[in-house]
Amino acid sequence: MGNTTGIKNIAILGSTGSIGTQALDVIRQHPDRFRAVFLAANNSWEALCRQAIEFRAEAVAICNPEHYLKVKEALSGHGTAVHCGMEAVCGMMQDQGIDIVLTSMVGFSGLESTVAAVRAGKTIALANKETLVAAGHIVMEAAKESGARIIPVDSEHSAIFQCLQGSNGAPAEKIHLTASGGPFRTWDRDRIASATKEQALKHPQWSMGSKVTIDSATMMNKGLEVIEARWLFDMPPARINVVVHPESIIHSMVEFADGAVIAQLGHPDMREPIQYALGYPDRLTLDNRKLDFARLGALTFSAPDTDRFPALGLAFEALRKGGSMPCIMNAANEAAVAAYLQGRIGFYDISDTIAECMQKAEFSGNPDLGTIFETHRASLSLARGIIDRTAAKRTM
Ligand code: MG
Repeated sequence: MGNTTGIKNIAILGSTGSIGTQALDVIRQHPDRFRAVFLAANNSWEALCRQAIEFRAEAVAICNPEHYLKVKEALSGHGTAVHCGMEAVCGMMQDQGIDIVLTSMVGFSGLESTVAAVRAGKTIALANKETLVAAGHIVMEAAKESGARIIPVDSEHSAIFQCLQGSNGAPAEKIHLTASGGPFRTWDRDRIASATKEQALKHPQWSMGSKVTIDSATMMNKGLEVIEARWLFDMPPARINVVVHPESIIHSMVEFADGAVIAQLGHPDMREPIQYALGYPDRLTLDNRKLDFARLGALTFSAPDTDRFPALGLAFEALRKGGSMPCIMNAANEAAVAAYLQGRIGFYDISDTIAECMQKAEFSGNPDLGTIFETHRASLSLARGIIDRTAAKRTM
């Protein structure tokens, strides 16, 4: 891949998902700044081919080998190299022609390629929070060694990152992560307990993929983000505060030693943090909705309720325990959310499954990458056993 002067060459891992397609929208609006040179998708092979043709990608990778021949045929004659499998994605991270890697795969599956990109010293636009949740200590250490810069895409962490640009190097005393509260913010526990997946998938503020939308309904998303913030900003758990802010206008805040708080605001639109990460340190124009404060009226805040949303408490517990516990928690959550989306378990079975897994899974205090992969596999299998038992009880 050739490097064109002044233009940043972008690789998008997970190009057909919600973040991936919005990133391509940003790239479409700034052809003088960005080029999508490499696109990777897991299963959506037709969308991947359409993207490759529109953006004249130099290479694509389809992770599921079942679709490889179809992609190869569809792209023949288009000048796009076609690769297959996660190993090929990781190999591509060595390519000198790639400047920025946007990691927007869903869940733990993003870890391997993110580590490969970090080790190759690429600038990482990080949209895969599970990577830092499961292996934050390894990813951050690898970034220190290779000199890879990690720029957050998650809206809360982008907000914190943006707020810190104004601090002239002064460290944050505290991070205030805002949470919308999700679709069940005002519901009582009984009503939440019987919530259908259709209700859980109706997020009041953000349009996102189904995994993160369910995570928002349980508030596990905020828990994952607390752990993500711990690693990105080297912040101990006691100095990370979660506050419910249903309007989702303040995307997060940083508090300094003098008590001054800097916040980043905007209407919820993921293209803003995506564009900021790709364009950093520049700010580019974006055709998004701008804030009208007089019409906005009030911004409101409240403390999160860990009785109705136990997943958030579990995440703090996993973070305090450290080692492989966040990895165990994340794997159990992935299995439980998938089962909930299939209609096999109820809403609170998600957090019950995670809690049981955290008690029963084999724990490691200082896991290396191999141990993390093994822990993920073992915790998935443990969680699936718990889910089978729960699902069987429900159909009795
Ligand atoms: Mg977020």
